[in-house]
Amino acid sequence: MIKEIRIQNTDYFYVTDPQNDDMSSCGPIHEENLYKKLNITTIENVRLILVPNIISKEKGHYLLYLYWGETKNLEALDTRVLEGNYDEDDFSNAIPTIYKEDATCFNCKQKFNGLEVDYGFASVGSKDLFRQKMDFIFKNKLNLKCPNCNSDLRITILKFI
Ligand SMILES: [Zn+2]
Repeated sequence: MIKEIRIQNTDYFYVTDPQNDDMSSCGPIHEENLYKKLNITTIENVRLILVPNIISKEKGHYLLYLYWGETKNLEALDTRVLEGNYDEDDFSNAIPTIYKEDATCFNCKQKFNGLEVDYGFASVGSKDLFRQKMDFIFKNKLNLKCPNCNSDLRITILKFI
């Protein structure tokens, strides 16, 4: 199901079944749906959200992947969202990401795909909260290293896909 929610003073859509939910009522979707592309129903610790396009004239929504950098029962959260019983704390460590394809390690040149922190999201919600989330990422070392040579990456990848 698709449910409109309000978190950090921002309205967006929370999608519980991105393989089957009909997102056409949300207007043009500006990013590719990874679930359909890979033909998968779930990504561990991830939920799809649609964020309103407030930047350009072309209305519609951007498709983002919220990644929880902590152990969180997302099935239970789905239920709470659908019932309207979620709260800000549920999303305090949910980090907005985009799908990055063919990122390259500068050390070993290996290519990989993954979920990268969407720094553009800082322009959508609260900047303080976004900064807290970034502190949380680096404090808990959630930013991944190259899967091949273990070098630091120049982009902030939280999950390889
Ligand atoms: Zn490497």
